[in-house]
Parts: sequence; structure tokens; C-alpha cells
Amino acid sequence: MSTASAWSVALLGMEGTLIEVEAAIGGGLPRTVLVGLPDAALYEARDRCRAAVAGAGLSWPNQLLTINLTPASLPKAGSHYDLAIVSAVLAASGVVPHAIAASSVLVGELGLDGRVREVQGVLPALLAARDAGFEAAIVPARQVAEAELVAGLRVLGVSCLADLIEVLHGRPVLGGAYANEPPTVQPPDYAPDLADVRGQPDACWALEVAAAGGHHLFLHGAPGVGKSMLAERLPGLLPDLNNAEALEVSAIHSLVGRPLNGGLIRRPPYSNPHHNASMAAMVGGGARVARPGAISIAHRGVLFLDEVPEFSARVLDALRTPLETGKVTIARSASQVCYPARFQLVMAANPCPCGMLGVPGANCTCTPMSVRRYNERLSGPMLDRVDIHHRLLPSRLGLADAPAGESSKKVAERVRLARERQAERLMGTPWQLNGEIPGAELRRLPRARGMSLLDDAVRSGRLSARGVDKVLRLAWTLADLDGKDRITRVQLASALGLRHDGWRCAA
Ligand SMILES: [Zn+2]
Repeated sequence: MSTASAWSVALLGMEGTLIEVEAAIGGGLPRTVLVGLPDAALYEARDRCRAAVAGAGLSWPNQLLTINLTPASLPKAGSHYDLAIVSAVLAASGVVPHAIAASSVLVGELGLDGRVREVQGVLPALLAARDAGFEAAIVPARQVAEAELVAGLRVLGVSCLADLIEVLHGRPVLGGAYANEPPTVQPPDYAPDLADVRGQPDACWALEVAAAGGHHLFLHGAPGVGKSMLAERLPGLLPDLNNAEALEVSAIHSLVGRPLNGGLIRRPPYSNPHHNASMAAMVGGGARVARPGAISIAHRGVLFLDEVPEFSARVLDALRTPLETGKVTIARSASQVCYPARFQLVMAANPCPCGMLGVPGANCTCTPMSVRRYNERLSGPMLDRVDIHHRLLPSRLGLADAPAGESSKKVAERVRLARERQAERLMGTPWQLNGEIPGAELRRLPRARGMSLLDDAVRSGRLSARGVDKVLRLAWTLADLDGKDRITRVQLASALGLRHDGWRCAA
């Protein structure tokens, strides 16, 4: 019996486990057996590899061929094991030497015609390979740029099976049949500017405070007043991701198949799922492999839920735990998958189903009952986590007359300075931003001057205990934006204004 092995990676969420693919030829009637908990897509690898080998003018072993993926206890899914399988088979048949296949990690899918197709998750897979001590990786030619983001790994790209055979012989690839196909082009990051928002200075200010302190934000107002326009400008106010964050965010985006040809994702991402989004699209899931959902795509960036009362209550409810823990766990029959999901939430809603309630000069056609039901769809626990409530009114000035707002660049600089102050003050705590500080911890910070303002509001029933926490968090951010070390009556009054809004709210 002749045997050989090659290596690939199984991904369970963001975690990669090295998988040894062993091929053994001989000892029975001609057939191919694949063992080691493969899923349907992986089981089909047998046929894809056989067709590709035949297409290259080589013969598939004419004896019993057993392909074993170990550790056998780990469920394996996907089509990216093809390169490792075909390498082990060719090495066991004596077509290529063993050495390179046995010391490299291989990820890539084979087409029936022998071309090597791109796969999802190259970045997290190779991070796991490097951490396991591998020094070389063989990947689809179009994903070399993504693979090279993993420092310390020698990357070889192959565009077809003929290329792979050359590489396994240790010969340079001269460019296979598919080498000249244009790479998938990544669209340039679209960065809308805050200067385009005209006639809404208060809303721009609320957005700046949200950016500075990492506060979740709720915008409501009539349709067309600029809620989405503001939300999509929030990522532009946030600082660049640091190296660890960029790697983590890029790994998630690699898992959903976003090309990383342009390098690591350095800017906070933006994710705006539609209100019809399924549970799987929102929090992650899927039939075969649990893919990251919109909340993980928004990790270290912004999650925007437009027309939030239209989202299903079940989907909104599923956001509560990630909002607290910064991650989401998806239970599967055989395993659990965990993805990071620490995002800044921006929600938007119309004032009522027709959108015209309270709009000067407009007529709301909704019944009081339907307005109440609409408002109640947004549950108290969701609103509790949102520090800033801002109501947008249509600008009184025509768009042409309203002065242009400040540029995102200018505002982002103030946000950066405010975040630096927070990082300094919160050093040694688990938090970096005011928006993350729990209520109990807030009350341990130096007591503000002018707290009587809040005491009065509590006594008169205008503010709940939870509302006091929100006001304090916001007041700290306002102090940070002002460059002050303490909060005073000025910031408290201003913070009270940022959470007053007119939407039915328990806090
Ligand atoms: Zn209405």
C-alpha cells in the first residue's frame, strides 16, 4: 500500500483547526472512499478531483483509494479541501514528490476542468496554519494578495491543477491556462462626507457625540429627512482600526467572500441589513456552514437598522446579547460557532406608520391605535441600550440655502481627540469608550458638579435611574469633546437634551 498526506484547515467560526488529509492506495477493488465526517460539498470533492486529474491527462488510482481527513471527530464542511486531497492522491500515486504537499497548507477548490477556484475564509485559515507552525501555503492564484496578509508565511498561488503539479515538484509556476484572468476587483471604499448634510446641524452634532463616545444612536423623523444619510456618515467619523482590529475585521469579511485584494480592511465597516432580513442574515447561520451575519460584518463598525419597527421582534431580540457581550454564538447540531459582533448601533424610525405625525404642515392619516402599536414594536430593552435619541425635523431652509456642514475630516479629528481623553481616563478598566461604561461604574467616577439638575428631573419623573446613567455617559463624552476633566452643569444640561426626543421611551 502506498500512502501520502497533505494539510488543509477546518474553520469553525473564526477558529481554524489543521486537518491532515491522508490518501492510501491499494488493498481492494477499485473505488474511492472518503472518510472523516465530510459534509455534502466535501464529499463531492472526490468527483471534482477525479475529473480534474483526468482533465490534466493523468490517471486516477485504479485500486482502492481511501482518503481520510483527521481529526475524524471534527465536522468538515466546504469545498476548499480539494487542493489538499488532490495533492495527497497525486503524491500517493507517485506523480509528485511528497515533501512539499506534506509541509504546506493547501486551500482551494478545483473545477471539473482543472482550474482552481477561489474559496471563502483564506485569511482566517492561514492565520491558523501559521500559528500551528506552517511556513508555506498554496492558495488560488487570485487570493495570493489576501494570503500574503498573513505575515511569516510563504505563499504560492496556483490557477490550475497543472500549476499545482509544478509547485509540488518545487518548480516555478510559469502561468497556467487561467493565470491571466483579471483579479476580482474590490470596489473602492465609498466614504460619504458629512459636509453633504445640509440644514441639520443638531443631527450632525448628535452624530459627532455618538462617534466620540461610541454611543448607540436612535434617529427618528419623517421619511426623507436624512436619517440614512447621517447613519452612513458615521463610519467616516470613526478612527482607523488598529492592527489587531483590522486583522479580525478582515478575517470576518474573508469568511463572507469579500475580496481582500486591497489589503487589510483599515476602516470601520458599515452594515445595513434590510428589515426583511432573516435571522441567519442578521446574526449569522446558514444551511451548511454558519456564516457571519450582518452584526458580525458590522464588527468594529456601524450597524444601521433603517425603519427599525419593521424588523421582526425575534430578530431584534437576538441583538440584545451581542449588544452586551460583543459576540454572537450560533448553535449547530454538532457544534457551536462564535463570531465577534461589537458594533455601534444606529436605528432609524418614522414617527408613525405613514411617517407624517408631528411634521409641521403635514397630515398624519394613522389611527392613534396604529401609532401606539408601531411605537411599541421597538421594545424597551432595545431602547435602553441607546444613549442618544434624536428627532429630525425637516430643514426650514431650502437645501440650496442651507450652509454646507463641516467636513467629516474636521469632525473626525475632534472625535479622535475626545477618544484619546477617554482612553487615558479609562486606562486599566475593561472599557475604552464612555458608551461602554456600565451604570454602576459610572457612579464611581468623580461626582459631577450640578447634579441637582438630574435630581430634579428624577424627582419630577422626567428621568428614570437608567436615564441618569445615559445622561452621565453622554455628559462625559461632551466633557471629552470640550477638553474638560470634569463634568459640570453645562454638559449635564446638554446631555439631557441629547436623550430627550418625544418617542415613547421607558428610560
Ligand atoms: Zn401617521
